[in-house]
Amino acid sequence: MRIQIKETVDKIGQSVELAGWVDVRRDHGKLIFIDLRDETGVIQLVFTPKSKDYELASSLRPEWVIKVSGEIKARPDNMINADIETGKVELPVENLEILNEAKTPPFPLDTDGLDIDEELRLKYRYLDLRRKRLQNNLRLRSQFVEKIRRQLFANGFSEIETPMLTKSTPEGSRDFVVPSRMYPGSFFALPQSPQQYKQLLMASGFEKYFQIARCLRDEDLRSDRSFEHSQVDIEMAFVSQEDVMKTIEEMIITVFESMGKKLQTKPFPVFTYKEAMEKYGADKFDMRSDEEKEAGVLAFAWVKDFPFFEKNKEGKWTFTHNPFSHAKAEHVGDLLKGENIENILTPQYDLVCNGYEVGGGSIRAHKAEMLRAVFKIMGYDEATIQDQFGHMLEAFDSGTPPHGGIALGIERLIMILTGEQYVREVQAFPQTGKGHTSVMDAPSKLDEKQLKELKLKVTSEND
Ligand code: ASP
Repeated sequence: MRIQIKETVDKIGQSVELAGWVDVRRDHGKLIFIDLRDETGVIQLVFTPKSKDYELASSLRPEWVIKVSGEIKARPDNMINADIETGKVELPVENLEILNEAKTPPFPLDTDGLDIDEELRLKYRYLDLRRKRLQNNLRLRSQFVEKIRRQLFANGFSEIETPMLTKSTPEGSRDFVVPSRMYPGSFFALPQSPQQYKQLLMASGFEKYFQIARCLRDEDLRSDRSFEHSQVDIEMAFVSQEDVMKTIEEMIITVFESMGKKLQTKPFPVFTYKEAMEKYGADKFDMRSDEEKEAGVLAFAWVKDFPFFEKNKEGKWTFTHNPFSHAKAEHVGDLLKGENIENILTPQYDLVCNGYEVGGGSIRAHKAEMLRAVFKIMGYDEATIQDQFGHMLEAFDSGTPPHGGIALGIERLIMILTGEQYVREVQAFPQTGKGHTSVMDAPSKLDEKQLKELKLKVTSEND
């Protein structure tokens, strides 16, 4: 039975079987040393000219996949490598089997890789992911998600999936769309977020919902923006703004402290939008001293009570954060009447950490008249409101409880945890900065048969 490399430290004197990749080969006179790598670490393999498979060992190249067996030996004191966990042991190999050979990789895998052309790295992403930095990033991401799930389940939340094939919604970005074969000329939109579905789940009587949700937005790509991202998407019924903030704050503290992180201030400082603008001149800010930055401290804060509306480039009112939000109690009258629009505040709360916005949510409208009033202020006529949001208005008229929620950006949080500057460094198979999924060479053209089936005609290939 194969064991993993990190287990070898407790196996001195025992016969084991290991498998993994050739990390480095060093020839010292007649001795051949191979660093064998698996998911858990690296161990030194030793071949002497007397070894049965010495000849085979001399053919090994980096990244070949091999299986070896032998008896784990303690290294002599002067040969101990104190830098690695398995530096006290080595394996004189009795049997070697080559499971697969490998071409020479197109770039080195033993560096951080940041200086390598991104298109190339992403074309060979499966190799790129072998580097330690990315292994660590993705494993940390997995641990983070596991801890979040644990915490939410412990607090009575249910994890519920919502559709990927859905309808265009005004979340503020361009939609990715999918043509429908069964309804030629009609299109699904991929979700920019599960916002409407999570609210509908509140109407359905699920009082504590969450989902590790994939969100798709056809936006220009930036260092911290990608077409796809994941968020911890949460919604709760019968809650106040303070209830949601408290639930999330407790979860964040538990999860990050259990990951060994030091948090600057607990409970998290809370600023109104107005206070934040006065104090920091921005609604996201970094409260850490230089020493705290150095020490990897996380400084979380809340910003709450944002203006509901702002004027867009055409001089029309649009929402600042989320059109599905409630108004602050004292501004409900103005919202319903469409008066004093610039002064209407919403119980929206953003979670800020180390200068980034890492989450945002709000208490929502749960009555049809309020949602209708929001879209009226934004200049929608009744027919458009019915066409686009009739389903929400009807659900609200069917006994939807008061509710609110939040979404936390997983990539942003992992970027903060790992110190990465680019969102792509914390995703397994991201799109390139130029918008391709390189490994698969997507997007790609459809063949004539597929186009015909979808009743689509491509009229222009270059804009
Ligand atoms: N739907 C919002 C977003 O994706 C978050 C929320 O209000 O829950 O940004």
